[in-house]
Amino acid sequence: MRNPLRLVLGAAATALLVATPHAQTATAVQSRTRIHVETLASDKFEGRLTGSPGEKLAADYIIGELKRMGAKPLPGMTDFRMPFTFTAGSKDGGTTLTLTRTGASPQIFSGAATVQALSFSDSAETSGSIVFAGYGLVVPETQNFGYDSYAGLDVKDKIVIVLRYFPEDADQNTRAILARYADLRYKAQAARQRGAKGMLVITGPRSPNAGAVVPMSFDTAIAGSGLVAASLSGDAFAPIMAASGKSLEAVQKEFDSGNPHVAGFAIPGITVALKATVIRQQQTGNNVVAYLPATEVRLKPDATLDKPWVAVGAHYDHLGRGTTGGSLAGTDEANQIHHGADDNASGSATVLAIGEAFSTQPRKRNLLLAFWSGEELGLLGSNAFVSKPPFALDTLAAYLNFDMVGRVADNKLTVQATGTSAMWPKLLEQANIVAGFDLVLQEDPYQPTDVGSFNTASVACLTFFTGAHQEYHKPGDTADKINYEDLVRVGELASGVVRRLMDSAEAPQFTKVEQKTDTGGRAGLRLFTGTIPDYASEVKGLLLGGVIGGGPAELAGLAKGDVIVEIAGQSITNIYDYTYALELLKIGQPAKVVYMRGGERKETTLTPAARK
Ligand SMILES: [Zn+2]
Ligand SMILES: [Zn+2]
Repeated sequence: MRNPLRLVLGAAATALLVATPHAQTATAVQSRTRIHVETLASDKFEGRLTGSPGEKLAADYIIGELKRMGAKPLPGMTDFRMPFTFTAGSKDGGTTLTLTRTGASPQIFSGAATVQALSFSDSAETSGSIVFAGYGLVVPETQNFGYDSYAGLDVKDKIVIVLRYFPEDADQNTRAILARYADLRYKAQAARQRGAKGMLVITGPRSPNAGAVVPMSFDTAIAGSGLVAASLSGDAFAPIMAASGKSLEAVQKEFDSGNPHVAGFAIPGITVALKATVIRQQQTGNNVVAYLPATEVRLKPDATLDKPWVAVGAHYDHLGRGTTGGSLAGTDEANQIHHGADDNASGSATVLAIGEAFSTQPRKRNLLLAFWSGEELGLLGSNAFVSKPPFALDTLAAYLNFDMVGRVADNKLTVQATGTSAMWPKLLEQANIVAGFDLVLQEDPYQPTDVGSFNTASVACLTFFTGAHQEYHKPGDTADKINYEDLVRVGELASGVVRRLMDSAEAPQFTKVEQKTDTGGRAGLRLFTGTIPDYASEVKGLLLGGVIGGGPAELAGLAKGDVIVEIAGQSITNIYDYTYALELLKIGQPAKVVYMRGGERKETTLTPAARK
């Protein structure tokens, strides 16, 4: 509901605008900002999931506003949209399993309910004899808990069969340890490290979902695992088990004790040929990017301005109906539209408001207005932008980001990434004289929002934030809960910062912030390597999106763009391998790292530090 008093003031403001067409009153800005948030967060836009029709409607709306204020597509471009592709998931394209028993004709299994590729499987064909490796679990020695399903088993060039989950009858403590290594990605990696060519997963009769195939999961950080892997139904597995002469239930019961010395076994007299077909679903997301060209020529006509661009940006995508991860909705709200009014219609509206303000003001630098998509899936849009920038990023003086700025409470505004330039604290203090917020400055630029992409690209940057709340990532993050009066003030403060950046001949000097906490990797990991994985990458190996200043990776000479292919003797084909390989490292103990740089294979030694 609209506040009736605001509507009356809105009418007065319109009259004022007629009198002074180049000045906007605070009330006019406020009502326009409210319209931006209400529109972007409306049901019609269905939560603005990257690549969805709702995202396209939101982009159309933003483009309409950009055109209205006279913003232009970037130099050399005709469109405001900057598309990027990403892997939105995978589906089975017809996986088959052929069983051949000595002296019998082959049996072929197909159909998604019978044999289905695992989402990370290579799309390839393999064949060989079979080894049943129990639960396929390997606990790294560093955990001081000896459990290795492959101890004493030769699986080289074989197809391994593993049970899904982890031993059902193990005691609480054992389960807690084993559960960490029960992820099928980790099981696949363990099998591959031991030379297996393929992996088949079955869900034992004593486990939940007995006899069912494993659903293909949503996975944006997808890359092949270097292994052909599929799950089988109980029916498809029955002939294999029959060849072993044992009962699956009895075998599972032995493994279920959690006793690490229960050994797996080869199944003689039968071979399998597995042809896995995985279709990785590529989708397109759209950043929306425009600019307001500089209106004034250089201060000194003979000198070029130090860095002619300033950028403001916000992600406009959100979680859709929350079905692809990231949602914190309760079961009673499952599948509902996640409106994302604060996250991040508020930031998008702020970027529009800054553009609106500067569209009628003199500009000594070009002002870039950016609306990112794919943020909720892992900063995909801003990453795509900085990895293929439309102009050299060393000509960008600064980037200001807005993510969740609509819930100012008690006049408090948090500004993060202030450590990226020595200039920021003073500049913010000056701009805040008019705005009058109680500012909380945080130096750390390693934030889970698009500012991270720019920090990694060595651009001086800031991100504005008004704090987490009850409705964060839930359907209830709606437009009626936004504090519009203060949201407009956030835009005014930021405009003050932009004004100073525009007018100063010198651009902020970028400072690399030392950081003691990994942003990637698993929660609870005790180890610190200082690597920043590029989650959107599809290369074989781990592409570094950056390294943390002063961290072990930087000390080892690793840098953004390097692709780690081996660490501590473990081959790395993707982010999951890497995360798991980290479990093998010890704090203070140097580990060999093999990486690719510019097509050349290089080696270094990285010494992990303790995580603070
Ligand atoms: Zn956000
Ligand atoms: Zn979010």
